Amino acid sequence: MPDVPAWLSTKFDAKTVAKRAAEFVGNMDARHPGLVETLRDDPLEALAQFGEVTFTLSAHQQSGKCSVLGSYTTFTDPPTISVTRRGQGQTWFSALHELGHHEQQGDFAWTVALDTIDDERRRGRLEEQICEAFAAEILLGADVVDEIIGDDIPTAKSIADLHHATGASRAACAVRVLQLLRAEGLVMVATLEGEVLFSTGSGDVFAPKKGTVQPPDSVVARAADAGTSSSRDASVMYGTGRQQHGFAADAVRDDDYVYAVFTAGKPGWVTGFYASKNLYWGSAEHDCRCGATFTRGAEAYCETCNRGDTCPECGVCACAPEPVRDLTCTDCFMVWPTSHYLPGGTVCQGCRED
Ligand SMILES: [Zn+2]
Ligand SMILES: [Zn+2]
Ligand SMILES: [Zn+2]
Ligand SMILES: [Zn+2]
Repeated sequence: MPDVPAWLSTKFDAKTVAKRAAEFVGNMDARHPGLVETLRDDPLEALAQFGEVTFTLSAHQQSGKCSVLGSYTTFTDPPTISVTRRGQGQTWFSALHELGHHEQQGDFAWTVALDTIDDERRRGRLEEQICEAFAAEILLGADVVDEIIGDDIPTAKSIADLHHATGASRAACAVRVLQLLRAEGLVMVATLEGEVLFSTGSGDVFAPKKGTVQPPDSVVARAADAGTSSSRDASVMYGTGRQQHGFAADAVRDDDYVYAVFTAGKPGWVTGFYASKNLYWGSAEHDCRCGATFTRGAEAYCETCNRGDTCPECGVCACAPEPVRDLTCTDCFMVWPTSHYLPGGTVCQGCRED
């Protein structure tokens, strides 16, 4: 039985995860000299040629546990990596993330060591974190990161800087910035509507799953509007509809994307006194406007926000805007309750009868 690394039984910080991922990349290159180089140039081409896995690319979205649009399975022989085709950067990152699962699951001593982590979710989170670092290690070398960021304090803008300077995928740039943070935390790439495209955390900090929409009062939404936003008391919305509070956060808009960094302790960009808060979960209860109270994390996921926030009584999601209660009649220009109109109509009952 191989020795269990001490860091596995305690906290696994982003730097340790990065180091372990670099070892996996090194092992792979030792087995297949030159492979890492070809993976860096074009992972899709290199994986198509790679004999250890069957590699499939498809247009359909895969559902799976991964933070990326892809999956890895050992139910086939050889194992299969499936990736959803999106923009080049995203597709490349997804493919290399899945190769990270292959490297880990093919390393017997490592799987035995992982199995010593009793908490299954924690085990899964560590494997995911190593996959992210593995993909970033191949796509964006540590020496390049050092050249661009240098001694700068890592912020959300660092993700944009890395992306613009290297063209590496946004996810790879986000992972590299996560590794530079002084505190545990998470990084996020989101749309201007606040939808999470990619997120990953360090240590025991949960990252929200892709597709989860961050609420209008979050730093993500504020940066989408104003260009930048930071907060000493920020929240992250998760797919269950619950929020986690107590983060420090920094977010920046970059063209059609928002990058955000959340830390669970004093971040580098805050100078002077900072009262570190413990992260804490918001209430799981939600009061629906229909009068019902329900527990968030429902089975039914909403297509608008991707959260499990749907009221079991009335079927309306917590993200739904307040219904319009009054309408101005286009005939008399008076304001009447919606009950005075036909469904979809704009002329009030009084005017219709005149
Ligand atoms: Zn994964
Ligand atoms: Zn919703
Ligand atoms: Zn309801
Ligand atoms: Zn009217």
